[in-house]
Amino acid sequence: MAILIRPAARIKKVKAGNAEEVLYKLQSFLDDNMEEPVEILCGFWEDQRNAITYQELREAVKAGALNETLFQMWSQDYSVLVRGRLSGLWQNAMKAGSVSQPVIQGRNFEFNMQIPGIMNWINRRGAEFVASVSLEQKQAIQALLVKKMTERHTVDELARLIRPCIGLTKGQAQANVKYYDNIVATLRKEHPRMKMESIQRKAQDAALKYAERQHRQRAMTIAQTESAYAYNRGADEGIRQAQRQGLMGEVIKRWCTSGDHNVCATCQGLEGVEVGMDKGFQFKGRQLFAGQNLLPPAHPRCACAVEYIETSSATNRAEPPSNVSDSPLLGEEREFLAAAVLGMKDTNKLPPVVIAAVTEMNLGTLASYVPYTNAIFINEYIADRKVLLNSQMGFASSKNSIATYVHELIHWMDAEQYRAKHGIIDKDYIPKLREKHKKSIAKLAKNGYNVHNISEYASDELKKKHYDEVYTEYRVKQFLGE
Ligand SMILES: [Zn+2]
Ligand SMILES: [Zn+2]
Repeated sequence: MAILIRPAARIKKVKAGNAEEVLYKLQSFLDDNMEEPVEILCGFWEDQRNAITYQELREAVKAGALNETLFQMWSQDYSVLVRGRLSGLWQNAMKAGSVSQPVIQGRNFEFNMQIPGIMNWINRRGAEFVASVSLEQKQAIQALLVKKMTERHTVDELARLIRPCIGLTKGQAQANVKYYDNIVATLRKEHPRMKMESIQRKAQDAALKYAERQHRQRAMTIAQTESAYAYNRGADEGIRQAQRQGLMGEVIKRWCTSGDHNVCATCQGLEGVEVGMDKGFQFKGRQLFAGQNLLPPAHPRCACAVEYIETSSATNRAEPPSNVSDSPLLGEEREFLAAAVLGMKDTNKLPPVVIAAVTEMNLGTLASYVPYTNAIFINEYIADRKVLLNSQMGFASSKNSIATYVHELIHWMDAEQYRAKHGIIDKDYIPKLREKHKKSIAKLAKNGYNVHNISEYASDELKKKHYDEVYTEYRVKQFLGE
C-alpha cells in the first residue's frame, strides 16, 4: 500500500516571544542609519583612488605586484578612518542596542558606555576591521596583476582599469574587468571599423560607472554588518549591566532569524536555538574572529538578532553575575599585565589585541605589532598558556608568559614615539628605527655587553640587520630578566 505523503501546508510561522519586536527594532535601526557610513566609505575610497598616481599604477602593473608601502598606507588610512569616524557610529549602534531588548523595558536601567569592556570591544573590532578590509583591498588589486590579466591587456589599459577598483573586493574587481572585456569584445564585433582607442575609452567609461555601483554595494555591506555587530553587542552588554545593577536575574539568549525570505542556510539552522549568555551558537563555516559565534551577525549582511529571556528573577538568584563579558579577551589580560611591567598606567591607550587565525598570520609567527594598523596580532594557538610557553622558546625571557606581550608592547611604544613626532607612520619609520637601534646596540657592545647572548631570535635578526628586533629583545630581557 502506498501512502501519499502530502507536503506540509505552508504555515507562516508566528515568532515565539518578542522576536518580532527585537527584529523590527534592529531592522529600523539599520534602515535609518546606513546613509552616513555609506557616504563616509565611498568618499574615503575616492580619496584613496585620487591619492595614487598614474605612474605608480603603471609600475605596479609592470612589477606584477602592489607596492608594499602603498598597502601599508591603505591600512593606516583605514585605521584613521575607524578612530575618526566609524568608531563613533559603532558606539551609537551599541547604545541603541543596549536598550532594545523588551525584557529590559520598564526597569530603571541606564547604560554606561564608559567601562573598559566596551571601549576594548570597540578598539578590538576596529583593529580586526582594519586588518580584514585592507587585506581584502590588497587582494583585489593583486588579482588584477596576475599573468592572465597582464597578458590580455596593455600596461596602460590595466593601469586605467585598476584605479576604479581601489576599494573593491577581489570578486568585485574581477567582475569589473570582465565587464570591461565584454564591452570591448562586443564593440569590436559590432563596429569593426571603430578605432581601438575609442573602443577602450567607451569600455573604460562603462567600467567606471559600474565600479561606482560596486563601491556603494560594498559600503552598504560593510555599514550594515558592522552596525549589526555593534548593535547586538550593545544589547548583550545592556543585559549584563542590568544584571550587575541587580535589575535582572538569569538570562538565556534565543537566536531570531530575520523572517521568511532572504535567510541563509546558516541562520535558518539557528532559528529559535537557545543557549546560555556565555555560550556560543553552532555556526557552520569558519569563524572570522574569536567570540564571533556568541552573537549575530553570522555573516555579512546577516540581519538576525538575539532575544534575551529571563529565566529567574533578580531577587532569587543563586549567585551574583560573574563578570564574564570579557571572556574572549584572554589576550588583553596578558596585555594589561605586560603594560604594568612596562610602567604604563593608562590602559585605555593600549593597542587592541586581535586574536588572528593561523592562516591570517605569517607561518610561524607568534605575534606581531603592526604599526600602520596600530594593533597587536596574536596567533590564536597561543591563547593556551602551554602552547604559548612552548612557542616562546628561543625568544628573550621565554619562560615568562607575558614575554611576547612585553615584546610587542615595546614595538608599540617605539611607534607611539614616532607618531608623536611625525603624526603618522610613514615609509621612513622602519629604516629610521633600525638606524637608531643599530647605534644603541653598538653602544651596548662597546660597554662589554654580549649582544649575541640576548636570545636565539635576536641573534638571527642581528644577521638580517633587523636592529629594531634585536634591541626590542634586549629590552624585554631588561624588564623581565632571564
Ligand atoms: Zn542571519
Ligand atoms: Zn618583534
